[in-house]
Amino acid sequence: MFKSVIDILIPRSCSACLSHLSFGEQLLCTACRHQLSTTNFNFCLENECDRSFYGKTKFTKASALFYFDQAGILKALLHHLKYRDQQQLGDFFANWAAEILKQDSCLTTVDYLVPVPLHWRKKHQRGYNQLHQFCKRLSKLMDWDYAPKLLKRIRYRDSQTHKSRINRSFESNPFELKKTIDLCNRTVLIVDDLITTGSTMTHCCNALANSSPSKIYLLSIGYRSRFV
Ligand SMILES: [Zn+2]
Repeated sequence: MFKSVIDILIPRSCSACLSHLSFGEQLLCTACRHQLSTTNFNFCLENECDRSFYGKTKFTKASALFYFDQAGILKALLHHLKYRDQQQLGDFFANWAAEILKQDSCLTTVDYLVPVPLHWRKKHQRGYNQLHQFCKRLSKLMDWDYAPKLLKRIRYRDSQTHKSRINRSFESNPFELKKTIDLCNRTVLIVDDLITTGSTMTHCCNALANSSPSKIYLLSIGYRSRFV
């Protein structure tokens, strides 16, 4: 009752289409929520996200929550998360991810939950890492250690979008591992907002390789399929 009155006095808007949210709707209206296309990937069965990393790097399993396409609603939501500081979307995606991960019997323990880091200059320009709230919330819900400084981005880059896949694969690694951490017998989960070519995650895995973690899992909010 109280919430309904608040909704009338201070209408809340859908983060994607800006229509007014009804009572019971959180962040997204029902129509927009239904437009999110879940992958149904998990860390047990092989999926196309896994296959996109085969032969590129050493990792255990990869998964993603939603399919991404240029016209889809996820593109707008990731843009809001990344450039408009709508960190409540990080919580929204983390809640959804935790529901899925709690059902996943193949990933029960994570020692370090690691977001793909921004270069310090980019973080200064943007003011935040768009993955921070997502990872913080997810680590709390899953009772995993959040380790935002385990990886460091040592090379600044404006954008990947104009570079070809081949160019990106052969350039030197922009990430390095914090040297004081021993990953022997540890399980690491690397998190990004979007997997497209997989080059960012590949570089992150390669940066961890010398420290020999026992398992490296990869998780992203969005996955751009070559088949959709
Ligand atoms: Zn909407």
